[in-house]
Amino acid sequence: MRDLFRISIVFSILIAFIFGQDKPKSILPGPERAEGDGPFKRLVIRGATVIDGSGAPPRGPVDIVIEGNKITSVSGVGYPGVAINEKRRPKAGDFEIDAHGSYVLPGFIDMHTHAGSVQKAPETEYVYKLWLAHGVTTVRGVGLSSLEFSLSEKERSSKNEITAPRIWAYQRPGQGKDWKGGSIKDPETARKWVKYAAKKGVDGLKLGSYEPRIMAALIDEAIKQNLGTTAHLAQTGVARMNTIDAARLGLGTQTHYYGLFESMYENNDVQPWPVDMNYSNEQHRFGQVARQWSLVKPNGKKWEALKKELIELDMTMDPTMTIYAAGRDVMMARNADWHNIYTLPSQWDFYTPSREAHGSYWFDWTTRDEIAWKKFYQVWMQFLNEYKNAGGRVTTGSDSGFIYKLYGFGYIEELELLQEAGFHPLEVIRAATLHGAETLHKPLGTPVEFGMVKAGLLADLVIVDENPLANMKVLYGTGAVKINEDNEVVRVGGVKYTIKDGIVYDAKQLLKDVENMVKKAKRRDGDLTKY
Ligand SMILES: [Zn+2]
Repeated sequence: MRDLFRISIVFSILIAFIFGQDKPKSILPGPERAEGDGPFKRLVIRGATVIDGSGAPPRGPVDIVIEGNKITSVSGVGYPGVAINEKRRPKAGDFEIDAHGSYVLPGFIDMHTHAGSVQKAPETEYVYKLWLAHGVTTVRGVGLSSLEFSLSEKERSSKNEITAPRIWAYQRPGQGKDWKGGSIKDPETARKWVKYAAKKGVDGLKLGSYEPRIMAALIDEAIKQNLGTTAHLAQTGVARMNTIDAARLGLGTQTHYYGLFESMYENNDVQPWPVDMNYSNEQHRFGQVARQWSLVKPNGKKWEALKKELIELDMTMDPTMTIYAAGRDVMMARNADWHNIYTLPSQWDFYTPSREAHGSYWFDWTTRDEIAWKKFYQVWMQFLNEYKNAGGRVTTGSDSGFIYKLYGFGYIEELELLQEAGFHPLEVIRAATLHGAETLHKPLGTPVEFGMVKAGLLADLVIVDENPLANMKVLYGTGAVKINEDNEVVRVGGVKYTIKDGIVYDAKQLLKDVENMVKKAKRRDGDLTKY
């Protein structure tokens, strides 16, 4: 009996050891790159229809030549419906992709990302591969993770040591292991931190709702240091710092919507919360914001004035509509096509309704809550579409990893939502590519290095064998469902190749890798918990 007891102790230590190994203390950096072919001395993509990202109409057949990591020519080689004159095509490459019948787009830019957490997805490989598999070749981490982790992964990705998109590191003020100034409590410390961050190599600031004099110092110093700024103007501070207040200070990007409606209330200044409102109760926090839809007047005086001034101030809108979309149909979000194959059980557990997990606020979600969100989206989308029509820049960010939204998949949903807002599919693609690149480069004062299929730019491209303008769903890793001529259900599309920095990644293989990671995790953690 005693021996049995001893054996069982040894056994449980062994188990704890094995499982302890599986659950690291912090997220793991991407493993050394084992995927992707190239870069090549001369890569030629032949016969493609190009959607160049600028808003120009598609054209083809086109041959694209890439030398190293740069696009060196994009040339029309014929006319639709006519055989291509082989003699007039660019000379052979040392690697070629046959893209006749396929579409080539600039690599996508996800402007609002996080690499996850140990609790959700401990291996960044999982997240990186999901992004690349959906054509995302650049991410703005807000932050990706800690300052040190983000900068290290940014560096490794820029050298293509890892299979990951380009990383732009926006970090929260006060971060940094060797920052000795503590939290940011006054304008002087704010400026010191921005200078510290600039020296470290950070690309920009992720701001919350700081009090006005600190916000002013942070933004002003960021501009001086050529750093970008993006703000989530949280409800806890929005009464003192809404969108127009921040834009007047020079804010580069507003992310989410917080502060936008507050900038144009008709008959209120502070949102008229119910008297039992409690911000720490996330059903209140996320349920109540939607109620703002009736507080503003579309095309009223305030609405028009706000739109005009924000455009004059050249502020980018990064709405991240996808991350709130479960609010208008939680049942659909919970049952998305991708969960079964691509969602890690640990990520799923994080989504599971809870009073503690961020964004898992389904305490008692009702039809009324969903109707409020549906109305909210209508008003929000109208503003975004008019903002774009009046010359404003709207970008695509996903904030995936919360609220049933998975990396990559959530990003494609954002494209669908922009189309729902009234964007033409070409305007959606421009939001996802050129306008993201412009927003990232603006603080540097340099022309874009990516974001279009154009000679001279970096070779970041997406190749898909279906027309995404006809149906954005063909960009989902799970593809689009169709019925073929034999009345059978088939799935079409899914990105075929993602090219980053001239390196060709087989997008479907990346998804296969993710599928295998999920299978392995399920053997350890069990299936997605049903409820
Ligand atoms: Zn976020």
